[in-house]
Amino acid sequence: DDTNAPRRIRALDPDVVNKIAAGEIIVAPVHALKELIENAVDAGSTSLEVLVKEGGLKLLQITDNGCGINKEDLAILCERFTTSKLQTFEDLQSIATYGFRGEALASISHIAHLTVTTKTQDSNCAWRAYYDSGRLAPAKPGQSPDPRPVAGRPGTQITVEDLFYNVPNRRRAFRSASDEYNKIIDMVGRYAIHCSHVAFSCKKHGESSTSVAIQTNASAVDRIRQIYGGSVANELIEFSTSDDRWGFKAKGLATNANYSIKKTTLLLFINHRCVESSNIRKAVEQMYAAFLPKNGHPFVYLNLEIDPQRVDVNVHPTKREVNFLNEDEIIQAVCEYIRSKLAAVDTSRTFLTQT
Ligand code: ADP
Ligand code: MG
Repeated sequence: DDTNAPRRIRALDPDVVNKIAAGEIIVAPVHALKELIENAVDAGSTSLEVLVKEGGLKLLQITDNGCGINKEDLAILCERFTTSKLQTFEDLQSIATYGFRGEALASISHIAHLTVTTKTQDSNCAWRAYYDSGRLAPAKPGQSPDPRPVAGRPGTQITVEDLFYNVPNRRRAFRSASDEYNKIIDMVGRYAIHCSHVAFSCKKHGESSTSVAIQTNASAVDRIRQIYGGSVANELIEFSTSDDRWGFKAKGLATNANYSIKKTTLLLFINHRCVESSNIRKAVEQMYAAFLPKNGHPFVYLNLEIDPQRVDVNVHPTKREVNFLNEDEIIQAVCEYIRSKLAAVDTSRTFLTQT
């Protein structure tokens, strides 16, 4: 009897593979929400409403007024790698939309109960479909899985219920619904500041007051005032610079030397995607150190557009990190430009107090 014989290798069931992939893309409710916001913005929406129960673990619903989804596409909507945004690998180089590889809805359907209600401009009714593990599913056992006609306004409503219901270890790891809700408000606020001409609202289910409420025509400074308060909004300098050599445009709003707080707030959008970058954060903090009291930090909203040919958006399954060419040069150029703006304000202030 040979105890050292290798075990046989077998292909994993596709549903198992999909469930593993889903857990990598959607780690917390806020990650599902980010994907849904990006989809709604991609669909040309001018209004986004978010409704949340138990920090998004019980319910996460986003209603938009965008282009809607064709009824004929509902059957494949939640299959992995189905998308309206990308056809060839080369398309990745010029992709301007947020989503690009058709994984978000598929992932969500593997780890939550997903309902989609959608109406295009030229359809005379809305259609509602339920999904389970990438496929259309009946609303109740025994019923037909086919989309059913319902009354509804143009646009799309995505309802995600019982997130991680079939990933019990992940579900149990969430200690506090209010922590998850705070992450959701933070993310909605970031997109609300970035997406001018789009109205945003976010509220807890069963509560009448909203946590975020931004009108369509609110300016960027108004949006920052509503979300981060007057102490930030009253001390902002606007900046805008570009450089053809490195192929970037940078604009945004940053606090002046009057404002200082314990921790940096960095709202970073690279090609309209909300991302993190510890390199940019470090460079910004270093640059501000010359202007702020010891342990003081700024608020910076930075909208960085980099020639798509120079960006590799495909490095991280969650798309939270983005790599680009000449990163050091671009960061340095942007920080130097903000520094000169800060210095100009600082000089005029010194001048005012001297006279
Ligand atoms: P991706 O965004 O990468 O294409 P998703 O799984 O997020 O993949 O979405 C799949 C497709 O579903 C999108 O390409 C788009 O055509 C459609 N879609 C998703 N959400 C919306 C929405 N809110 N409004 C209109 N179409 C949508
Ligand atoms: Mg998407």
